[in-house]
Amino acid sequence: MEDYAAEGKSIARVEGKVIFIERVVPGDLVDIRLGKNKKDWAEAYPIRFHALSPERVEPFCNHFGTCGGCQWQMLPYEKQLFYKQKQVGEALQRIGKINFPPLLPIRGAKETQYYRNKLEYTFCTKQYIPADQFDKENASAGAVGAAGFHARGFFDKVVQIDQCYLQAEPTNLIRKSLADFAALHDLAFYDFKQHTGFLRNVQVRICETGEIMVNVIVGYDDAAMIKPLLEALLERVPTISTLLYTVNTKFNDSIYDLQPVIFSGRGYITEKLEDYYFKIGPKSFFQTNTRQAEQLYSITREFAELSGSEIVYDLYCGTGSIGIFLSKRAKKIIGVELIPEAIQDARENALLNQIGNAEFYAGDVIRICDDAFFATHGRPDVIITDPPRAGMPEKLVKKILEIEAPVVVYVSCNPATQARDLSLLDEKYVITKLQPVDMFPHTHHIENVAQLKLRK
Ligand code: SAH
Repeated sequence: MEDYAAEGKSIARVEGKVIFIERVVPGDLVDIRLGKNKKDWAEAYPIRFHALSPERVEPFCNHFGTCGGCQWQMLPYEKQLFYKQKQVGEALQRIGKINFPPLLPIRGAKETQYYRNKLEYTFCTKQYIPADQFDKENASAGAVGAAGFHARGFFDKVVQIDQCYLQAEPTNLIRKSLADFAALHDLAFYDFKQHTGFLRNVQVRICETGEIMVNVIVGYDDAAMIKPLLEALLERVPTISTLLYTVNTKFNDSIYDLQPVIFSGRGYITEKLEDYYFKIGPKSFFQTNTRQAEQLYSITREFAELSGSEIVYDLYCGTGSIGIFLSKRAKKIIGVELIPEAIQDARENALLNQIGNAEFYAGDVIRICDDAFFATHGRPDVIITDPPRAGMPEKLVKKILEIEAPVVVYVSCNPATQARDLSLLDEKYVITKLQPVDMFPHTHHIENVAQLKLRK
């Protein structure tokens, strides 16, 4: 293995062909089996290790390898950061094919464990047992229920988790308390094939403010079962600030179209970034690594170079957090976001922080941001854009080129699509700063903030 490519895969070159291999690190010597096989490239996975790379360290989690969660634990954190930084540069070179300044050194996380403020566990009748641990004589072991995370590639099986290091306690205690109560009182876990069972999921959110919100998702509405389950949970974990439940009779796990019911507390919690407060409900979007979100937003604010007189557009604004973070230094913030509930949250968050100069609009960015919209709200001095992994549609990039905001700050969670978009923006914009940020230690995900200035 020679190097890391994108998406956490390593690359090897064999007779001029590039092979992308999962679950290995540069320096490993392995036999592989080919998956997808094209003329110039192929995908593969390891079947036998001959020598392990000196770069490897012992993963700290017992579930490493089985659980798909933290796939880079075998790399020391500095190495993870090194490869993430490299990936951003390579995407700009290979996909962007544009001039760019040297990248600023990646902002790593101080805390590489317990960094998530949100986790969701699944309760499932079928436990995932990896092939090499599967005991034929004891095959029924796999039929015992499991509480943990979906196994990669298996929609109907779950990896049993004893301790997860992604979120601080009482996250594990909450999951275990529910599973224990279910076992003791014969409450069935969910079966993804039969679509039967009571206990489905639990979402745990823990804020820096110390507040804890738990939403227990059950398969059907039965107060005689829900009430004792939730009462027992509160008894074992009295630090829960607010407890909700949601009845999900659908075949999929998503709760965005369901109505959570408050069982105890206020039904929401409050997170704090710098001196700003954000109300988080059971369905609200919020960056999952609070401390690194603070980093990301302060870099964005710095790159926006505000003096107090600017009209700032915050595209893909979610619950308005970036705009709110910037609001004191701008004349006006205009946030645009697809999901109406997120816009509701954004407006509430602006009120909560007594911010009077921010307005939020719900709808598709390319529909909302037309000439009339810019004419009504004013020519942008700064455009902040933070699109999902797919990046920006070409139409929006064209609009940005047309409207000619002097400064654009592009926050991205996918260096490949960001490089593509930056290459289009190159027509009128020069990249002046690039700052990768690590929001997700032990995963291959990487965030990058780019500052662009209009060519004179
Ligand atoms: N800036 C926010 C959220 C970024 S995530 C934050 O830091 O918290 C990207 C956001 O883009 C999501 O909230 C998603 O709902 C929104 N989105 C996705 N497609 C969109 C579109 N076509 N138009 C507007 N918003 C969109």
